[in-house]
Amino acid sequence: MFDYNNIRLQYISPTWLPGTIQAAMLRLDLLHGAVSGNKWFKLQCNVAAAKAQGREHIVTFGGAYSNHLAATAAACQLLGIRCTAVVRGAAAPELSHTLQLAQQQGMRLHFVTREAYRDKETTDWTSLFPNAYIVPEGGHNAAGAKGCEEILPLKDCSAFTHILCAVGTGTTLAGLINSAQPQQQLKGYVVLKGASYLEHEVRSLLLRDQSPQWELVHEHHGGGYAKVKPELIAFMNQFYEETQIPLDIVYTGKLVQGFKKDLESGVFPPGSRVLLIHSGGLQGNLSLKPGELSY
Ligand SMILES: *Cc1c(COP(=O)(O)O)cnc(C)c1O
Repeated sequence: MFDYNNIRLQYISPTWLPGTIQAAMLRLDLLHGAVSGNKWFKLQCNVAAAKAQGREHIVTFGGAYSNHLAATAAACQLLGIRCTAVVRGAAAPELSHTLQLAQQQGMRLHFVTREAYRDKETTDWTSLFPNAYIVPEGGHNAAGAKGCEEILPLKDCSAFTHILCAVGTGTTLAGLINSAQPQQQLKGYVVLKGASYLEHEVRSLLLRDQSPQWELVHEHHGGGYAKVKPELIAFMNQFYEETQIPLDIVYTGKLVQGFKKDLESGVFPPGSRVLLIHSGGLQGNLSLKPGELSY
């Protein structure tokens, strides 16, 4: 159903990449049309746990533009599992394209107030959804990180000196840290503004004390979560022209743009071999006006 052979390791040479530095993208976005990128990796162990516990209903959480809800809806449809999304805020008169698609794929939408959503971690959802398996918002749990340990072994990634990914909840980064070589350096480019709690969130999912070196980069959120400046769009269009790789506006666009800025500030020494994780999320580009992106 999910063919990992679709995933490619693609070397890139955009005009702004110095000749002394190698860079490649691990194209998780090619995994599957509807369940693309890191979201399937975060879901796989959760789905297996739900099955092992005999639960036939998955309940998870997100906002109206959540890639996690989109991927969960598509995966559950493919796997024949019932699923419900607890959605933040009242239903808008016209649902977002993400929620419309999720609903068409059989996901039930349960709207709650922002206050109730904020308390979701301490709410007993099984009284409302008996025998359901609960996947936290963004797939942020130990099973989510465990599934992401399978990303780096997909290809021979051992020669890269740096591994870079976009960070929302930090679950993907934690799985990468847990499965990287001890000499590799990991950098998570945070797409939220002022998200200093993330260091703790990542650390809580790490398996070893002596993990490879890692850090969160907080300077390249580009104005905050899902904020899109014209320079980001121009950068993404140019990157597509030069590499034929489509990026998304919320995560991977900011990751690659942040990488370029860090290159310009000399963060990566000559001889660095940098792996960028393309975590997918391209469905998020549908919220742009047609024609803004060249792809
Ligand atoms: C959700 C998402 C992320 C964030 O992953 P976390 O594990 O929550 O840090 C990164 N990239 C894309 C494309 C995503 O959709």
